[in-house]
Amino acid sequence: MTTATKNFSTLDVGLTWHNSFAKLGQHFYTRLAPHSLPEPYWVGRSVALAREMGLMESWLSSQELLEVLSGNQPMAGTQPLASVYSGHQFGQWAGQLGDGRAILLGETSLGLEVQLKGAGLTPYSRMGDGRAVLRSSIREFLCSEAMQGLGIPTSRALCVTGSDEPIRREMIETAAVVTRVAPSFVRFGHFEHFSHRGQHEQLKVLADYVIDRFYPACRSGDKFAGNPYAALLEAVSERTALMVAHWQAVGFCHGVMNTDNMSILGLTIDYGPFQFLDAYHPGHICNHSDHQGRYAFNKQPNIAYWNLFCLGQALLPLIEDQELAIAALESYKTVFPNALEKLMRAKLGLLEIDGSNSTETLTQDRALTEDILKLLAQDRVDYTIFWRRLSHSSAGTDTDAVRDLFLNRDAIDAWLLRYSERLAQNPRGLVADLMLKTNPKFVLRNHLGEQAIRKAKLKDFSQVDTLLLLLESPFEEHPGFEEYADFPPDWASSIEISCSS
Ligand code: AMP
Ligand code: MG
Repeated sequence: MTTATKNFSTLDVGLTWHNSFAKLGQHFYTRLAPHSLPEPYWVGRSVALAREMGLMESWLSSQELLEVLSGNQPMAGTQPLASVYSGHQFGQWAGQLGDGRAILLGETSLGLEVQLKGAGLTPYSRMGDGRAVLRSSIREFLCSEAMQGLGIPTSRALCVTGSDEPIRREMIETAAVVTRVAPSFVRFGHFEHFSHRGQHEQLKVLADYVIDRFYPACRSGDKFAGNPYAALLEAVSERTALMVAHWQAVGFCHGVMNTDNMSILGLTIDYGPFQFLDAYHPGHICNHSDHQGRYAFNKQPNIAYWNLFCLGQALLPLIEDQELAIAALESYKTVFPNALEKLMRAKLGLLEIDGSNSTETLTQDRALTEDILKLLAQDRVDYTIFWRRLSHSSAGTDTDAVRDLFLNRDAIDAWLLRYSERLAQNPRGLVADLMLKTNPKFVLRNHLGEQAIRKAKLKDFSQVDTLLLLLESPFEEHPGFEEYADFPPDWASSIEISCSS
């Protein structure tokens, strides 16, 4: 099943490959080639990402690249590997995990790492088969590009390739591989791994690598008495805070915020049982196996902080000062609420009055935000549709379309009145424009993904293409595609999604 059994030559797609992660040394990974996937076919491709990577578009229709990205042929200039990490899963120390099914091909000259997820067994596969199924691969592909379209930090996905190879899950499904791309796939769990084992030399090598490559400013600031590791913890806390603020504002539930699924770059990674909210329900649990609701929508901000605390603990042998570590984590407590407030103000189209806001206006604006979220929760109003309709109503259309979403008409009328009075103080003309660029028309709702998956199982990939097109520019109107911006059907609430599929 390995590439050695096939006599392919290596493929040169004109990219220059490096692998700076590989230079960290043997403690960090195992070198191995992807396993081959029989008779692969294209399922979805992102031309936009190919362009950004400097990959000629024509490669995305070539048989050679299809074979390479399915693990059947080596990519010239790469020495693939699977990395080792550990992590806390559902609040418990889980010990060694590692890339059980993701193989890092290398890093392009633009500094983008390319991984094949679902490329077969690695030394870290534990009880798994090293594979990913078509269903979850389509979800990861579409959601990566959807988050990018929404302006939310994320790993990217170049394509999905599929095969008829059967894969056993709860039912027999088929295998697929996602080619995913990010500047780095280093996770909190990589740090926890070496720290927990007392391998402080490797811990330092990893931290220095991450700082030099992604956070060079950590070496120059004097905020933490010149301690670059405390500065790193603060910088990661800030990026994580920004990412989670975006999730909360758009109504995205990650579903498995284990520390091994937390990117050191503050990117959304490891798309599994995620969900964009349909009806607004703060306590919504999207992961069917999350019985305690640890990763419920409204718990995400605190869980991110808990995870950062784990990272802080892992970095302690380098920071060498507990007070400093705690101080570095503090930034999360201001960056997160400030970022969320800014995003929510933008969603509401609340601009600054005369270049600055008085305390009174800020208090009033906070109350407007809190009150509308309460009303949305009480009436379980569709989150995305509400914000889009509100944006259109600010453009001058009447407010009936907004009112219609609520059962409690008196309450929404009272709120709309307060809101319109506040909007009247805004500088003119900008509000609707801002709101329509902030409140997406299209998000990857579970049922939309599900419909695309059902067709894809029958080898019809047209819905994957359509969704990609809409989700790449979710703030555009896309006339003719109204059904993709509509309420979910009744059966949507019965879709069950859980971990690692
Ligand atoms: P996840 O819940 O997808 O983040 O996975 C947790 C850990 O299990 C990671 O180390 C994955 O690489 C690994 N894993 C998940 N699914 C599989 C699989 N089918 N085969 C091997 N390893 C897996
Ligand atoms: Mg994971």
